[in-house]
Order: sequence, then C-alpha cells, then structure tokens
Amino acid sequence: MMYAVREDWPTGRLLCECPSCGTLQMVAALPACASARCIRCNQLLRRTRYEPLVRPLAAALAGLALYGVVLFLPFMQIELWSRDHTATMLEFPAELQTNGFWELAAAFLLFVLVLPPLRLALLAWVLIGLRLRRPPRGLRALFRWHERSGPWAMTEVFLVGVFVAYSRLADLAQIDIGPAAWALGGLMLASVCAEIALDPAAVWEAIDSRTPRTALAGAKDEGNPVGCPCCALLCHPRPDRLSRCLRCGALLWPRKPASLARTWALLIAAVICVVFAYAEPVMTVSNFGEGETSTIFGGMIELAELGWWPIAVIVFLASITIPMFKLVALAVMLLSVHLRSATGLRARTRIYRFVEVIGRWSMIDVFMVSILTVLVQLGFIATVQPEVGVVAFGAVVILTMLAAYSFDPRLMWDAAGRGRGAE
Ligand SMILES: [Zn+2]
Ligand SMILES: [Zn+2]
Repeated sequence: MMYAVREDWPTGRLLCECPSCGTLQMVAALPACASARCIRCNQLLRRTRYEPLVRPLAAALAGLALYGVVLFLPFMQIELWSRDHTATMLEFPAELQTNGFWELAAAFLLFVLVLPPLRLALLAWVLIGLRLRRPPRGLRALFRWHERSGPWAMTEVFLVGVFVAYSRLADLAQIDIGPAAWALGGLMLASVCAEIALDPAAVWEAIDSRTPRTALAGAKDEGNPVGCPCCALLCHPRPDRLSRCLRCGALLWPRKPASLARTWALLIAAVICVVFAYAEPVMTVSNFGEGETSTIFGGMIELAELGWWPIAVIVFLASITIPMFKLVALAVMLLSVHLRSATGLRARTRIYRFVEVIGRWSMIDVFMVSILTVLVQLGFIATVQPEVGVVAFGAVVILTMLAAYSFDPRLMWDAAGRGRGAE
C-alpha cells in the first residue's frame, strides 16, 4: 500500500481533517491541558493532558484491581417474607438465558461484564508496553480497539439502571447493596478518570516513536488527503484501492461508505422496533401466583406514584425523550443532505455530536429489567420475567447508535456546497 504522511508530524504542529465538517487545518503545538477546536464547526480536535502516559495507567490499574470483587462477591441481596436471594454479577447471563432472553444475557455480558474491564486492560497493556525497553508487538491494533470500543462500555449506564431497580424495590422488600455493586462504582470512577486523563494523540505519538510503522516504503503524495477516523493521522490513500491508516491500521474512506443508505436502513428498522417497544410489555411481575405486566410508560408512572420523582424523570429522559430525539434528529439530518440545505450547518453538526454521545444512556431500562429479573427470584412469593418489549427497546438503542455511527456529518457540509475546497 502506498501513501504519504505530512512530515510536520510528530513535531507538535500537525495538519488534520476535522471529523465533523471535513475542513483541513493546522493544529498548533499545544502545552499541557490545552485544547484545539475546529475553526469552522468548533469540534474538539485535540485536548492535551498532564502526564498523559502515567495518570491513565494508574486509573486503569486501579479499575482492574476492583474487577475481581465485581465478579465474585455478592452484588445485591433481596429479602421478602423471610425468603432471600443473593445475586452475583456472574449469575446475570446464566439467569437471563434461563428465562429465555439470550439477547439480554448477551447485552449484559458484552456491555457490562466484558468491555469495561477489557478497555482498561487494553489501555494498561499499551501504556505499560510503551514503558518497556522493547515494546511488545501489536500495540497499534490494541490501542485502536480501545479507541473504537468506547461507546459500548456501559458501566455508568448500568449503575443508573441499578439505582432505578433499587427505587422500584426499596418500598416493597429489604434490599442490601453488596460489595460488588460498590466495586462496580469504583470501576466506573476509574474508567472515567482514565478517560479524562487520557490524551489519545499523545499515546499515538509515543507508539509511533517507540515502534516502527508498517509499509512506509515508496510513499507518494497520491490522492486527496483523508483523516484517519480512529487516530486522526492525515493519510493520502490511493483512490483506486482500499487503504488502511499507516499508523493505526483503520480503514480509510474520504466519507463513510454508503453512509446515507445505511443510516436510512438502520433508522427505519429502529422506528419499527420502537413501536413494539412502547406497545408491548417489558416485564411481568408475579406476586403470590398473580402476574402483572408492565410497559415502559407503566413503569415510569409506578415510580412517580411511589414518590421517586427524580428517578421517574431520569427514566422518562432515557427511555422516551432520548430515543425520540435521536430518531427525529437523524431523520432531519438525512433529509437536509438530500435537500442540500445550508441552514444551521454548525447547529446540525453540534446536534449530531450530541446524538452520538447520549445514545447509550437509553439502555437504563434494559439493564433495570435485567437486574430485577436476576434479583427477584423468590419462587411463589415474587418473580420478575422479562417480556419481548424490553428486547425491542434494546434493539432500538443499538440500531440508533449504529445509525448515528453510520452517518457522516461531513456529508451535510458537502451537500451544502461547503465541503472541503469549497471555501
Ligand atoms: Zn469542523
Ligand atoms: Zn489511524
């Protein structure tokens, strides 16, 4: 593969492409704790940190140390009519699978049990590897996976789900929060600290200075420059073949491939699922042999009636406002590209970034139902069984997240005639 890199890099000043509007611009060398934003759409291009290779490592190791507690110690205990049940985190997938909901088991396994610690482990491995005299191979691919998996690690969303589940049960039964739940809170704090302390560009620079790049031989200035979607390096892929980023190995596209068609398809699928999600029940609560189904709206009203107003508002925001806002906002953005609209480009770009960030928070209800299902297993006295609505709702969240990911905001600028080179 042949491409060239602007050799301003890695001296600090660096030419880069804004991922939101496609403007090529020079980012100045930054002191610690400074940030650079796009001159046209205000997208954050880089934020530097103090000791970017040390502080995230400390946070990642602290988070990993808590993971053992999360896995093996009790998570929550419920006691009702002298019957009790203690749940551990490892029980969740098996219990959800036994209830016939492998989709919930898979979501829990991936988004809560595997990805959050895996991301910390990847970060720790890369940062420790960079400190060794001879860094191990594969650091580039591992850090790329770390960067790409960010939105899918949902510890903090799960913890809000725990809080909602607790609110629904606290008046009805005796609930004890176990050490695993506290450790999960610690793991979340460690992940947030690692994320805040991390300057990915500094890690990429360190990787580049410590390990050799692949296939630089014969590089030529061919094709238009394309910013790497993962590490932001400006590459010059050959227009006639599929190329990968020279630094991190991510696939390079001038614009995301088939962006409009993919986003429309995912959006329409999400609209179909959202109808089922709101119409069908999300769970059945059985009390002394009598079952009562509950929908998303019903659950919210129940929380409000129990006096948990703030929680009801959180559920309303996460389960109704955010999904609806995402569906409408993405549809408006797609239409604006088709209509070649030039109005409110900056505002639309900002809304797109907001939609990208908030998407995962809608999983609160899905996690809440999973927690109730696993915890409330008291035989004849009380059980909770998930229903098809919760799977449909989970599908809405994942489909809208994928739709936001498939959409390329630079197309809005291109369609308005304000893409790269137009000014
Ligand atoms: Zn921009
Ligand atoms: Zn890259």
